[in-house]
Parts: sequence; C-alpha cells; structure tokens
Amino acid sequence: MPETEPTYVKKLRSIPKQTFLFGPSPIQFLPRLSKEVSPAGDVKIWAKRDDCNSGLAYGGNKVRKLEFLVADAISKGCDTLVSVGGVQSNHTRAVTAVATASGLKAVTVQEKWVPIDPPLYDKTGNILLSRLMGGDVRLNNEPFHIGHKTATKQAMDDVAQKGGKPYYVPAGASDHELGGLGFTNFVVELAEQENQLGVFFDTLVVCSVTGSSHAGLIVGAVAEGKGRKVIGIDASAKPAETKEQVTRIARATAALLDPELKIPDEAVVLDERFHEGIYGIPGPTTSEAMKLAARTDALITDPVYEGKSMAGMVQLIKEGSIAAGSNVLYVHLGGQPALNAYSSYFEE
Ligand SMILES: *Cc1c(COP(=O)(O)O)cnc(C)c1O
Repeated sequence: MPETEPTYVKKLRSIPKQTFLFGPSPIQFLPRLSKEVSPAGDVKIWAKRDDCNSGLAYGGNKVRKLEFLVADAISKGCDTLVSVGGVQSNHTRAVTAVATASGLKAVTVQEKWVPIDPPLYDKTGNILLSRLMGGDVRLNNEPFHIGHKTATKQAMDDVAQKGGKPYYVPAGASDHELGGLGFTNFVVELAEQENQLGVFFDTLVVCSVTGSSHAGLIVGAVAEGKGRKVIGIDASAKPAETKEQVTRIARATAALLDPELKIPDEAVVLDERFHEGIYGIPGPTTSEAMKLAARTDALITDPVYEGKSMAGMVQLIKEGSIAAGSNVLYVHLGGQPALNAYSSYFEE
C-alpha cells in the first residue's frame, strides 16, 4: 500500500495546473566544480536543471510557476496574459511562450529596470524570442520596482477595450495567490528523485528576486520536515523588500496548502552579499563565478540571476557555511537567453 500523502501534497495535487514541463527536471552531479570549490572532496555539488525543464522557448523557473497561473486564467475564461518585466526579462518571454502554447495571446510591458544599453540589448536574447513567438512586446521607460505598474494597467485596459479578457500575471509570476505553488511542487518532485538516486540534499541554494521560487522552496522544505536548508541569494539589490516578499508569499502559500502549516522567521534565509550593488548588472564576482561553472562542468549561467547565486554558493562552501559532508543542490532557474544581450561584458 502506498503511504497516504500529507495534507499539503494532497491539496497541491488538487489545484489545477497546465502541463508545460517535460516531467521532473534533471538532477546532475557536478564533479569538476565540486573538486574546484571543495578540493578535499567533502562537499558535493549537484544541480537541478530547471533551465532544461521545458520545451517552451527554453523553459526556466517562470514556466514552472505559470503551470498554475495559466490553468487559473483559462478557468476564468481569459484569452490574453498581460505581464511586465525588464527589457531582457526571462519572465515575459516565458509568459509569451506559455500563452502561445496554450492558444492565448500575450501582451508584455518591458521596462528599463536595468540602467544599461549594451549593443542589441532591446533586440536580441529574450526579447527576440518573444517577438519571434508573435508576442505584443511594448517597451516602456520605468525604473526597477518589483510591484505593480501603471503601464501594465494601461495594457490591461487596452486588451479589454478591444473585447479581449486579460489575465494579469505579476512580475516574475510571484505576487499572486498561486505564485509559490510551482516551487513547492519542485520540492515534492525532488523528494521522489532523491529516493531514486539515494541522495539527500541537505542544502538548496537558489537565486531570489521577485521571491516566489525561493518562497515555494521554503514551504516545501518546511512542510516535509526533514531539516533541509534553503538559502536564497539576493540578486535584486533590494534585499529588505525581497525578504519581505519571500516571507509573505511563503506564508500565503503555506496557508493555501494547509492551515496548520506555519513558516517560522528562521526558515527565510536571504544572503545579501552577492547582488554586487545593482539588479541586472554583473560585477567581477558574478563574472568569475559564471566562468568557473562554465569552465569546469560546462554549466552555463546568466549575468543577472544565476551567476550571482553561483557566486553565493561557491563562497558559502569556501567559507564553511555549507559544512563538510554536505550534498548541496544548486537550483538552476534558467536565464541563459539573456546572455546574448550581455556579450560586451565577456569580450576579453
Ligand atoms: C526570475 C528569475 C530568477 C528569480 O526568481 P524569482 O522567483 O523571481 O525570485 C532567477 N533566475 C532566473 C533565470 C530568473 O529568470
């Protein structure tokens, strides 16, 4: 007889979702990176490859979250997803991808969240993919903020005026009642994979910006109660806001899944040392970490998010904050398409 599933897992499985992923995302051991970062061999680094999780326009963490939001949009009879992001947003590319593959339309407001304009910044990478998929891409000049926006409101009104029914997807698909579910599901999926592999990942390292990837992982780890640590690496450069948002989303997600499930303050860990002062721009620590991962195990990370969390994980291991004997899981959230827009940072 199979064990009866805990309340939160039953509830999670009962919430409608679309299928956008191939299945469980692959888990990979990184032997050369492990050896480089932990020469005595006492910390093993693995990655769960959510950058390879889907066939929809390169996938990534937003596609996992959007499985739940798109099911909600369809059940409400909406025909257009409206969302917002930076010029090189992975999120708006993912929104355009899941809309397209679901027979919906997408309108994405792309704002100047990053004060740089390298060659082809608004023409290549993610924005190119959105245009190729037929997305309605609207460039707009507002600075970075993770909250809700006026230009987005305008886009919603435009859709409605033309007789469409818009569905609002907040930045990063995070500040939404269903935003945390994708990454709680990730932990359920992970536990099944661990049983097959015979490994337990005691520490998860994840990049955190709009916060629902991190929040979902926290809920999953607290709910399963195995003492797994989740360490968020801030890449927003506004860590107080990010931490507040992660905590809020984690608590709302927990409450949705099981009213008994409480998220203690200590479960929300956000390391602020690796954002390099600004969202969206790599500094030397980020670039070094990207080169290290690429030149050891050919693991490709981006300069906005994953390069920063890679730098964080490397430092946490080197300084002993991740202890000897650990099996660390680097949660790779995607983002490589943006690399094309950052070629000028890697010309040496
Ligand atoms: C959006 C994104 C993140 C941050 O995830 P949040 O859930 O917004 O905190 C990290 N990495 C990549 C590649 C992303 O696209």
